[in-house]
Amino acid sequence: MLKKEFKRKDVNRMRNLITGKTGASTSTQVGYNKKTKEYKEGDVWTENKKTWTIKKGIKQTISKLDKIKKEIFMPLCCPKCNKVIKGQLSKDNYKAHKKCHDCVIEFEHKLRIRGEYDDYIKKLEAKNSLDIVDEMESYLLDAINTSNEGFVSEDGVVERWKGGIDKTGFSSKIKKAAKTRRAHIEKTLNDEERA
Ligand SMILES: [Zn+2]
Repeated sequence: MLKKEFKRKDVNRMRNLITGKTGASTSTQVGYNKKTKEYKEGDVWTENKKTWTIKKGIKQTISKLDKIKKEIFMPLCCPKCNKVIKGQLSKDNYKAHKKCHDCVIEFEHKLRIRGEYDDYIKKLEAKNSLDIVDEMESYLLDAINTSNEGFVSEDGVVERWKGGIDKTGFSSKIKKAAKTRRAHIEKTLNDEERA
């Protein structure tokens, strides 16, 4: 069984994830000399032949496919108004809404007039919550299944799991918890729609 207890930083990391606070930084071990290097939200670096980044406070790999996808699927112009998508705001909006910032503003304005805005925001929030559950689930499954050799903590120290982990048991518990959470979010959304 797992003897390592969750430390305060693990709890903090989870809290950052849940509250959407993304300013948290992490560090990683470089080579064998226990030197640490600090990384922060959005940084991209190579380690163990993989490309890593920190997204929403979590260290994770970027697959080459993701990079290619991003380049292929971000169009030059907004499909709605045909204006060039420029600036980070429009790029972020394109990822979430498949249109530029101006078009999102216009769309939300129309929804407000029709009285559909609150419903739309609730759906967006639910979608966001579901994304967080997905991320948390894959983060935890990854943490459990990555290695039994140890775990590089945020201060660059390799922590070892004592006595190994019941990977199968933990994985199924995590999947079950994520499933329950998803069902809860979906139920809340449906109840609001009916009300
Ligand atoms: Zn547009």
